[in-house]
Amino acid sequence: MTEETKSLRAAMPHGPGTHRAAVLHGPKDLRVEERPVPVPGPGEVLVRIAAVGLCGSDLHYYAHGENGPNVLRAPTVLGHEPSGVVVAAGPGAGHHEPGTPVAVEPAHPCGRCALCRAGRYNLCPRGTCFGSPPTDGALTEYLVAPEGFVHPLPASMDVRHGALIEPLAVAVHAVRRSGIAPGDRVLVTGAGPIGLLVLQVALASGAASVTVSDVAGARLRHAAELGAGTVGAAELTPEPARATALADPDGFDVALDCSGNGGALVGAIRALRPGGTAVVVGNPSAPVTELPLAWMQRQEMSLVTAFRYAGDFPAAIALAGTGRIRLEPLVTASFPLDRADAALTAALTDRSQLKVLVEPGLATASGALSGTRQEGQDRG
Ligand SMILES: [Zn+2]
Ligand SMILES: [Zn+2]
Repeated sequence: MTEETKSLRAAMPHGPGTHRAAVLHGPKDLRVEERPVPVPGPGEVLVRIAAVGLCGSDLHYYAHGENGPNVLRAPTVLGHEPSGVVVAAGPGAGHHEPGTPVAVEPAHPCGRCALCRAGRYNLCPRGTCFGSPPTDGALTEYLVAPEGFVHPLPASMDVRHGALIEPLAVAVHAVRRSGIAPGDRVLVTGAGPIGLLVLQVALASGAASVTVSDVAGARLRHAAELGAGTVGAAELTPEPARATALADPDGFDVALDCSGNGGALVGAIRALRPGGTAVVVGNPSAPVTELPLAWMQRQEMSLVTAFRYAGDFPAAIALAGTGRIRLEPLVTASFPLDRADAALTAALTDRSQLKVLVEPGLATASGALSGTRQEGQDRG
């Protein structure tokens, strides 16, 4: 018996056997299937999934079978925001004891190209990502991952909230890219999960104030509870006469667009002081043709983009561990794995949802669950 088989036997006394995975076959065609439990290879660990957060890219694949340039061509398991517990290690993987609660970093670069070696591995042209076809994702009971991309969570943290470490890492990376300095006045456009996390990371990074804008009043109330000043999205749209004048010296030092809406990005840029910085965080849904480049140049404004994260998971986990970043208010519903299609539908159609979790450990029978664990229950 190999070491690998021994550790698997210890973790799973009834043998590796099979587990369930939510597999997308085509738009709106999600099937829960039995598959063999994966065996961790050299340098890999096996994680029993506690929770997986659903995110915009999952919803694009579920609704349309594609996400930007990526197209679903063969059945693929979705999900790239997993947390769980290490249950077994492959040969040579020994950094995490079985039983360690972890968040799993889903994007895996080649590790050898110039960008990877420079630490900018989020830009690796040969990387893969869980839940990005054809790479299977985390909407399963068990997941194998390289141990260097498996990050221990503090014991004080609810392991299910580890599913929010991936979007929190996006927020940490965006705030790093923004260069926010102590005392800065910050604007965040878009109060979805990423915007609400960017808001909190900006405050933790020394921003004097953060103002959040959104078209949805309910989302602005979440932002206010998390320490933001709020403003309706319409108020940010400058009148044409004002848009040609010089920027307001009392404008924002930094603006981060987390909406992916071109109009919101331009509104955010227009709200900057001269010399301010705008950061593109949300995926722009369409080309932004009205970008006021000449106006920006005359006032030496900076336009920065941020993509995923590179080395940001440990900082995200450390911040969440201090309690200064609150993850719980972002979780608005949980569904068992067998109802992953209902979870995706809720995230897609119910505007009151922020982060919807799929929890393979939740019992399937509806009505059998109680309290805040109730399936699909609004926790907001
Ligand atoms: Zn995501
Ligand atoms: Zn690379």
